[in-house]
Amino acid sequence: IARNRGESEFHQAVREVLESLDPVIAKRPDYADNALLERIVEPERMITFRVPWTDDKGRVHVNRGFRVEFNSALGPYKGGLRFHPSVYAGIIKFLGFEQIFKNALTDQGIGGGKGGSDFDPHGKSDAEVMRFCQSFMTELSRHIGPDTDVPAGDIGVGGREIGYLFGQYKRLTNRYDAGVLTGKPVAWGGSLARTEATGYGTVLFAQSMLATKGDSLEGKKVSVSGSGNVAIYAIEKLQQLGAMPITFSDSSGYVVDENGIDLELLKQIKEVERGRVADYVERKPGARLVTEGRLWDVPVDVALPCATQNELDGDHAATLLRNGVGVVAEGANMPSTPEAVEAFQAAGILYAPGKASNAGGVATSALEMSQNSARTRWSFEEVEARLTGIMADIHDNCVEAAETYGRPGDYVLGANAAGFTKVADAMIQHGIV
Ligand code: NDP
Repeated sequence: IARNRGESEFHQAVREVLESLDPVIAKRPDYADNALLERIVEPERMITFRVPWTDDKGRVHVNRGFRVEFNSALGPYKGGLRFHPSVYAGIIKFLGFEQIFKNALTDQGIGGGKGGSDFDPHGKSDAEVMRFCQSFMTELSRHIGPDTDVPAGDIGVGGREIGYLFGQYKRLTNRYDAGVLTGKPVAWGGSLARTEATGYGTVLFAQSMLATKGDSLEGKKVSVSGSGNVAIYAIEKLQQLGAMPITFSDSSGYVVDENGIDLELLKQIKEVERGRVADYVERKPGARLVTEGRLWDVPVDVALPCATQNELDGDHAATLLRNGVGVVAEGANMPSTPEAVEAFQAAGILYAPGKASNAGGVATSALEMSQNSARTRWSFEEVEARLTGIMADIHDNCVEAAETYGRPGDYVLGANAAGFTKVADAMIQHGIV
């Protein structure tokens, strides 16, 4: 804590992993030898840099850029870039730390990394976003490469930003390294089904959890938070599987649409017009916007937090449980506070931490890298079939690890143990580095 002063989200993520590993270390005390635990919480490299850029009025702004190259035991560093005003070292390190174990769970040979900036793309023109991305990549390009470190999108970074970042990387290096970034538009190296993968994967994971109880998502009422990439495609897959998603949100409020979310309208507003959820209620009769309330007060069978870290606290969890929620699967990274996780686990409901349930995005990014290396392209159906298989394997590995370490049904222990043992074994084999 002294070494990472003030980085509360990083402390939270580390504590959650290390505390849950007690039964693993009890069985395999050698995992604590040679300062392995101390090494695993220390990034291999942390890069912080100045990002100056000029707005449309000619004024110069300075943001801060980050890339944490956390752990390369299993492969090149892999993890998204987040552009949001809340970004600082503690956010990037918590995300990078989680990414190590998530990537291990995918079994795709990728290490853990993360990056981003406190730049806020909201309200910026395309030209401003482009100049920012070019400046950001001018520094980042020294540190990344298709076999070194492969960034992708996250909050505030979608196809547009990936395009500008790639254009600058290509210009600086004079190399068409398609595999240096993932989440690319399909026309120049992106993978079909990457856009859908995180949301789809989260829902598939929830479906697998329900299957362990002989149940399914069909007919279930679901609350989804957020209205970005993860939320939109979680809603899409829920609808395909016969569930009833009834909410979505952004930082200005949430929408309840009990008549069934009009997904085409939501995509038009969020993906094409870059609008707000308030625009939806103006165009969809029967939907209501709540600006002064709590999305988790809406009674549902299943809750999928898909917006941001610590959006669901102990109070929210108590309300969800009182209203009869049976499944919580995280689409976002660390959306539930420790108090919320404790409440879900004490109540014995099905609860999946993001590092397991939202791993479909990075898994499909690894499939994008494979297609880039082989200079080939798989059909949507082929990628989705692989994603479905990967999510089923992650689910089953979590279940098996939880049983091995004596806590059947504990997906937190299962995910942490299954991810950690893979990384720890590789680190031991690589020696003290
Ligand atoms: P987007 O930028 O597409 O969407 C983010 C959504 O969350 C927006 O609706 C945004 O609302 C809302 N949001 C973000 N920050 C806050 C905040 N501080 N308070 C309230 N609402 C907020 O991001 P993604 O959908 O890609 O990411 C969502 C989550 O999923 C993140 O935790 C991310 O790390 C995680 N994730 C994403 C993956 C991916 O493939 N994209 C992969 C794995 C995890 P507003 O516009 O008002 O800010």
